[in-house]
Amino acid sequence: MKELILEMEEYAKAHNIPIMQKEGIAFLMKYIKNNQIKNVLEIGSAIGYSAILMASSDKDVKVTTIERDEVSYMECLKNVKKCGLENKINVVFQDALEVNLSEKTEYDLIFIDAAKAQYRKFFEKFQYFLAPKGVIITDNLKFHGYVGKSDTIESKNLKQLVEKIEAYIDFLNTNEEFETKFYDIGDGISVSMRKQNEK
Ligand code: SAH
Ligand code: MG
Repeated sequence: MKELILEMEEYAKAHNIPIMQKEGIAFLMKYIKNNQIKNVLEIGSAIGYSAILMASSDKDVKVTTIERDEVSYMECLKNVKKCGLENKINVVFQDALEVNLSEKTEYDLIFIDAAKAQYRKFFEKFQYFLAPKGVIITDNLKFHGYVGKSDTIESKNLKQLVEKIEAYIDFLNTNEEFETKFYDIGDGISVSMRKQNEK
């Protein structure tokens, strides 16, 4: 298992696949263990690195992970099999914005780690599948240190992307239903929790 993880890290490096940073994945794994998370939904599987580590972080945790890129999806399936985690990880090959999830399933943790420009859309769609006390965790909110500095970016594409992330952070900060905490861990992580009604 440890060797497979190292192999994945090397594969990601060689193929420029943005898997979670060490600190970030350690945070997720600890969160899952400490909060008895059972059902995880991940948006953006890539090669299955974070899905595999999340699924192995506790005995009863199950992960559904969505990936739209066929090459990554195939690689993910292969890695899940190699790790013997087929019964804990369900890999879905589809664009997350087009997926129809069963309305009966509630997730304790929804992990958003796909196209940065669509973060808000993912949040707005998948919040309805969150268990009452569940959390939505988002990765890459610092985006390699560019976030907060979009004014100084010259490349148009990069600037637009960073502006999208900045707008997503605003969206989280002003969200009436969710309370969000930001952590300076890995590439920047947020944890959003439903505000509890004070009655
Ligand atoms: N969570 C992974 C890394 C994911 S990288 C890890 O840490 O190991 C982001 C992935 O999201 C890419 O593989 C990309 O193809 C996928 N992606 C981007 N937009 C998507 C969408 N709308 N639906 C499904 N997958 C998407
Ligand atoms: Mg990421």
